[in-house]
Amino acid sequence: MDLKDVLSKLRGVKRQGDGYIALCPAHDDHNPSLSINEKDGKVLLHCFAGCEYTDILKAVGVERKRTKQSRSKKEKPKKQAEGKETGLTLKVYAEAKALSTDHLESHGLEDCKHAKRNAVRFPYFDVDGNLVATRYRLSMDGQPRFVWKTGDKPVLYGLWKIKEWIK
Ligand SMILES: [Zn+2]
Repeated sequence: MDLKDVLSKLRGVKRQGDGYIALCPAHDDHNPSLSINEKDGKVLLHCFAGCEYTDILKAVGVERKRTKQSRSKKEKPKKQAEGKETGLTLKVYAEAKALSTDHLESHGLEDCKHAKRNAVRFPYFDVDGNLVATRYRLSMDGQPRFVWKTGDKPVLYGLWKIKEWIK
């Protein structure tokens, strides 16, 4: 893929800094949001509206070749799948609190996913036993440890036993 080749296929090309800007072919662009730069003989494309690099290439109609962007993209999912970024599970939480998972489950705690990471879901009930909010614990000591379910208002604790464990 060569810079001239790419530029010849784009509309609204203008010089900008060391590179160019143009109308992004991958979305309905009226205000040039695609930046085109050349680095070490490679053409770099970036859409400020957030189009995927591969979609832009497809829309431009040029053959895909390896670039820095495509390589770093491949590495990403791998990193997320391993190590510390996997979050918290009920099993780990139970061990840390010296409680059995069965016991925690009997109080409504369960494994779930929050933002693609493992998390433990804590249901919050009112005095009548109605579910009023959900809180997710994401880690034992990382930050943030807890998040509320989107849209739920933080509920005052004190209605029942989980309070002792959540400290
Ligand atoms: Zn775009």
